[in-house]
Amino acid sequence: MERKRILTGDRPTGKLHLGHYVGSLANRVRLQDSYECFFILADLHTLTTKPEKQDIDTIADNAREMVLDYLACGIDPAKSVIYLQSAIHEVYEMNLIFEMLVTVPRLQRVPSLKDMARSAHLSEMPFGLLGYPVLQAADILMPRAHLVPVGKDNESHVELTREIAKRFNNLYGEVFPIPEVLVGEVPTLVGTDGNAKMSKSLGNTIYLSDDAKTVDKKVRGMYTDPKRIRADIPGTVEGNPVFIYHDIFNPDKEEVADLKDRYTRGAVGDVEVKEKLALAINTFLEPLRGRRREFAERKGFVDQVIYDGTMRMREEARETVTAMKKAMGLQSIWNRISRKAEEARKKDG
Ligand code: ATP
Ligand code: MG
Repeated sequence: MERKRILTGDRPTGKLHLGHYVGSLANRVRLQDSYECFFILADLHTLTTKPEKQDIDTIADNAREMVLDYLACGIDPAKSVIYLQSAIHEVYEMNLIFEMLVTVPRLQRVPSLKDMARSAHLSEMPFGLLGYPVLQAADILMPRAHLVPVGKDNESHVELTREIAKRFNNLYGEVFPIPEVLVGEVPTLVGTDGNAKMSKSLGNTIYLSDDAKTVDKKVRGMYTDPKRIRADIPGTVEGNPVFIYHDIFNPDKEEVADLKDRYTRGAVGDVEVKEKLALAINTFLEPLRGRRREFAERKGFVDQVIYDGTMRMREEARETVTAMKKAMGLQSIWNRISRKAEEARKKDG
């Protein structure tokens, strides 16, 4: 039996961080054998908030770094397709068709778009940013994906994809599967500053590629219970980012339970809690760093991965868009006109 398909990906706006890992990457690595996987370097999505030339000039390097992050996490390019969105011409076409199948008020209800506009310091909503989830629907439906592993902030986008796919199928016939969303075990990872979301644009990240010293420093500076100005003051564990991270990244559950117990009693210093956390995160990241180094040393390898994946995706895209236009009857408009034109020319000639 043919394997079901996954599509997901990231905007090449910088390196990937722990939030990306727990929200989506962990699921990608876990499922790459049971699904046929397509991972998109969503550079057109970058333009929704960063359309300037100098932003575009950073995309290629960011995309390479991101692919190194994928490989470091254990994504195997021999099994999975990694491709560059802007090099797939059909994405632009499909996006336009899908724009006809969704209303402006529906898009205005997507919660993440306002957040994105705000964090990009945009006072008014660009047309393209409003269309962010429509473009994402084109990405997801291009390889006719069944499953979309993403973080919580993307859940509402996948819902919109489902609506667009259903509407298309109703209007024109069954072309697309209705994809399911798969949110990671940690739906949204808090930032090191206690902000609800770890995010590149907020500067509250720990990158998968950070070295041990950087991790130590970032963890030392982490936001924790602000009431605890001394080690003997009882602290709060719930919602405390330091303990949220301990729960996720420290496999020594006994140690975590002991730290929590002493913390709530005012019997442990922040320094000890944070040192143990930094150690846990570094232990988690160490094998990733090793793999990252190995792949980075293979000159041109990352570019080859992107090239091969993009060429493969182009075939898929041609197939999907042909099926889509055929179902819509768009294909036959041109076919009929060009046939008639040829016949007329033959008669004339
Ligand atoms: P950032 O917000 O750090 O700039 P991003 O939101 O631009 O990153 P995207 O490309 O939009 O990154 O998201 C890539 C994937 O990672 C999405 O599935 C998103 O939901 C997930 N993700 C990003 N940040 C987090 C987080 N802090 N916790 C969980 N998942 C996250
Ligand atoms: Mg985002």
